Amino acid sequence: MADVDTQREAVLDALDNVAARLSEEKSYLTDLDSAIGDADHGANMQRGFSKAAEKRDDFAEMDPDEVVKNVGTTLISNVGGASGPLYGGSIMFASQELEGGITAETSVAFAEAYLDKVKDRGGAQVGSKTMVDALVPAVHTYKKSIEQDDLPPLEALAKAVDAAERGVEFTTPIKALKGRASFLDWRSVGHQDPGATSTLFIMEELLATAEAYLDGDVERDARAEDAVRRDE
Ligand code: ADP
Ligand code: MG
Repeated sequence: MADVDTQREAVLDALDNVAARLSEEKSYLTDLDSAIGDADHGANMQRGFSKAAEKRDDFAEMDPDEVVKNVGTTLISNVGGASGPLYGGSIMFASQELEGGITAETSVAFAEAYLDKVKDRGGAQVGSKTMVDALVPAVHTYKKSIEQDDLPPLEALAKAVDAAERGVEFTTPIKALKGRASFLDWRSVGHQDPGATSTLFIMEELLATAEAYLDGDVERDARAEDAVRRDE
């Protein structure tokens, strides 16, 4: 396991990368949310993660799990909407799994705790057309890749990101059962879920950061590539 300073640096870099990506994707996420929600998801996510990234200096002496916990509390107080408590509260809750440091094993525990909290708080299941549709396949794939297939964490994470991407695609043809989009009933069909999409973007940045630290370059599944991103 990398030493505590390296782990903290990795967490802070991940935070910077996520904040930068969500700033880039702000208008795309807003477009998705304007189709089936209230057009604030891009601004919510951008604001929350930028606030957390601005606290980089405050996090300089903290253990990695404390940094993660503080990112969660910052999101709770700055994101708002349904996604603030879901993202922030679940990150905060899951951070305790990283108390002993970040390893393959504790990262699986973190992912599972995060998913459990999102499901518990929001009451959504697979098929509700929410972030849960990206998270469930991602977390299950990650856990299986590490625990059963014995893959290195980087490869496991790449597979999890591919699984999340397919989960995002799956949200388009289904009807929303939770959140604001559910008010539209059948009119929500045919639109990609914003929260599942932001979940994918965050995971992609975690993978990019892990690649830099674990010194690897992994192939993503070609089939899924670019399927759910905006046209550039
Ligand atoms: P709001 O819907 O309050 O405007 P956001 O626009 O920031 O909040 O976030 C919307 C996203 O939150 C949705 O696209 C969906 O993925 C997610 N979401 C909403 N309600 C739930 C829920 N009950 N469980 C899980 N995710 C949810
Ligand atoms: Mg919204």
